[in-house]
Amino acid sequence: MQQSLLNTQPSCDDDFDPASLTCEEALAQISARIQPIADVEQVALRNALGRVLGAPVSSRINVPGHVNSAMDGYAIRAVDIPAEGINSLKVVGSSFAGRPFLEPLVAGCAVRIMTGAVVPEGADTILPQEQVEAAGDEIRLDGRHKHGQHVRAAGEDIAIGDQVLRKGQFVNPAELGLLASLGIPEVTVMRRPRVAFFSTGDELRSLGETLRPGDVHDSNRYTLHGMLTRIGAEVIDLGVVVDDPEALAAAFERASQLADVVITSGGVSVGEADYTREILTRLGQVHFRKIAMKPGRPLAFGHLGNALFFGLPGNPVSVMVTFYEFVQPALRRLMGLEPALRILLKARTVSELKKRPGRIEFQRGVLHQAADGTLEVRPTGDQGSGILSSMVQSNCFIVLDMETGKVPAGSLVEVELFNGLVQGFC
Ligand code: AMP
Ligand code: MG
Repeated sequence: MQQSLLNTQPSCDDDFDPASLTCEEALAQISARIQPIADVEQVALRNALGRVLGAPVSSRINVPGHVNSAMDGYAIRAVDIPAEGINSLKVVGSSFAGRPFLEPLVAGCAVRIMTGAVVPEGADTILPQEQVEAAGDEIRLDGRHKHGQHVRAAGEDIAIGDQVLRKGQFVNPAELGLLASLGIPEVTVMRRPRVAFFSTGDELRSLGETLRPGDVHDSNRYTLHGMLTRIGAEVIDLGVVVDDPEALAAAFERASQLADVVITSGGVSVGEADYTREILTRLGQVHFRKIAMKPGRPLAFGHLGNALFFGLPGNPVSVMVTFYEFVQPALRRLMGLEPALRILLKARTVSELKKRPGRIEFQRGVLHQAADGTLEVRPTGDQGSGILSSMVQSNCFIVLDMETGKVPAGSLVEVELFNGLVQGFC
């Protein structure tokens, strides 16, 4: 590299920065410093959707609750199956779902039965209706049937006392249904994490305020509101705070008293960073400040009192990328969930990808399936960290390793699909 004659400072245009952590190092530090929230609460079953179970759930009933039939046919006693030749049985009644046959079945008799209906006392075997001859109130059967066939035992799926759900399990519609099938109207869930956030910047205007030259509408509060709500946090929006040390200190202090997690955006670039750093050092600890990634390098993580602190960059795309890659796993851990599976797919890039070695990059891409069924991805035009429309157009990040340089069209690259946190499930 050509030696410059100027005595300059590191800038965000530099690619390699020795003070930056890798994503893996940063994630490991975050995980090591977070303990799941211990508080639990009771909620009505429907309200448990999207929550995390705070205690294991065991069944108080057998599922199925009764011995029942796996076929439409006839319930009989196995002793009535002929060793050879044909036997005739008298059909003495029926057992349908919700309308069982209530008397014991006696020798030489059969009961018409439907799938799922209770097998009458005394009966132990089901004859499929296709395998008998029915005439009037009689059936004729041969010796092909096995003792005990097509009978489902009570508790075969879940027995009384079986643990069916673990602590830390996320409640999806399937879990709701399972809990309902066990007759459980209320469940213990973890308290939701309280997350307070504010935006910093003299140029930021809330919606409804007039933009003066150089002003921008505060969009980060809205993307953060959306992502935090989707993840299931209790959201505390503390608005815009101007770039003034006293105002910032007061906001940090207030936020840390209200919440488990404090998130700010902006105020980490050169100049502003100096007094943000000074305030944070006074009020808490900062564990790291930079990650070797693009966008999003100036990402601070620390503690403000007991609250966790994430100082996200101001640029709207950087906010979303750093939230997705770091705040999301941190909140999951705080919520008591296991780390999410991070699935990277391989796709062929249809155009060249511009990149310089030195940092991992999360370029915005549109993944689609080519006519031959293989996956193709194209980058969404300009990759500037202020271009929020790139997040709207994309459905994935194209993840390019630190060492990777320019990527020629036609190469296989790794893509990370959005999981519904930053865009809907499609
Ligand atoms: P900063 O990190 O404060 O230097 O901000 C970097 C860039 O992001 C600047 O162009 C800011 O105007 C912009 N920015 C910062 N905060 C927000 C916000 N809340 N909404 C939209 N843009 C923002
Ligand atoms: Mg700023």
